[in-house]
Amino acid sequence: MFDKSTWIRLPRNVVVGHGVRSAVVDVIEDLHLQGRPLLVTSPTPRKVAADPIAADLEKAGLTPALVTVESATFGAVEEVIAAAEAEEAAYLVGIGGGKAIDIAKMASDHLDMGFLSVPTAASHDGIVSNRGSVPDGDSRHSVAAEPPLAVVADTGILAEAPWELTTAGCADIISNYTAVMDWRLAHRLKDVVYSEYAAALSEMTAEILVDNADLVRPGLEESAWIVTKALVSSGVAMSIAGSSRPASGAEHLFSHQLDRLAPGAALHGHQVGVGSIMTAYLHGGDRGIWQDIHDALDSIDAPTTASELGIDDETLIEALTTCHSIRDRYTILGEEGINERAAREVAIKTGVLE
Ligand SMILES: [Zn+2]
Repeated sequence: MFDKSTWIRLPRNVVVGHGVRSAVVDVIEDLHLQGRPLLVTSPTPRKVAADPIAADLEKAGLTPALVTVESATFGAVEEVIAAAEAEEAAYLVGIGGGKAIDIAKMASDHLDMGFLSVPTAASHDGIVSNRGSVPDGDSRHSVAAEPPLAVVADTGILAEAPWELTTAGCADIISNYTAVMDWRLAHRLKDVVYSEYAAALSEMTAEILVDNADLVRPGLEESAWIVTKALVSSGVAMSIAGSSRPASGAEHLFSHQLDRLAPGAALHGHQVGVGSIMTAYLHGGDRGIWQDIHDALDSIDAPTTASELGIDDETLIEALTTCHSIRDRYTILGEEGINERAAREVAIKTGVLE
């Protein structure tokens, strides 16, 4: 008997382009959202985007409320939930880098409200995906959440963000190569649920980005366009899969472990990029795909070594040898992880350790 079923949740409107910040009002009308919006932002994005958007909404008679969060913590999520209740908000608009959007996403999930994602930096795929990630003590939790009802990505604003945020977004996309390799492996060895559509979309997204790496240059607004579209595709792949598998494998475990061992040392995307070089090596032997990943990261000026990440050798080896255990997600690292000698070997062979 055929008894499969699937439920794919996607953003309904994705608006990307120069000056589209002012389309937030149109998007709200198109979605037929009723009631009061609560804008969730953090200090810098507030100036460049949230205050002007609040003025637009005010003019349209939507009486927005606004809350500014300082850090990506569960405390901040609770603050937003309290503000939404106090202001009698009907939906949330996350405006900022990853932080404000992650917090809006998790608060809206708790409140059972819709939310809009208005990224001001193309720094990671959380701006579109159905996953939320907030630090909890010394670790980072990725939890299932609703995808945004809409994404409004103004490339004029994104292009003004610090350049390393854009290269981090690129590296997060490039790491899809190894995420999909791990997913296929887990499917073969552990019968993990697998979607050919989601895997193909995720891989193709990474490929298109690598093919266009020449157009990813500081000061070029087209860079923001290319990276944002890739982040949207990657988010769609995760929505089709119903999990983060298309965009998160062992390279993400490695990055999450670095977050614990060396908090704040490097950006998420940069860490997963370096992780991806090494896990591609583990998948594929001496040359080949790891070299392509390395070269693509290098060409966009993303880190390819431990020292460029600001991580010392011992921390890198510790992260690589222990990260398999932080989450029940089967990858090339297996259930036992890799030992220290093998970890040093892969790090040296790939040039991550010099
Ligand atoms: Zn990521």
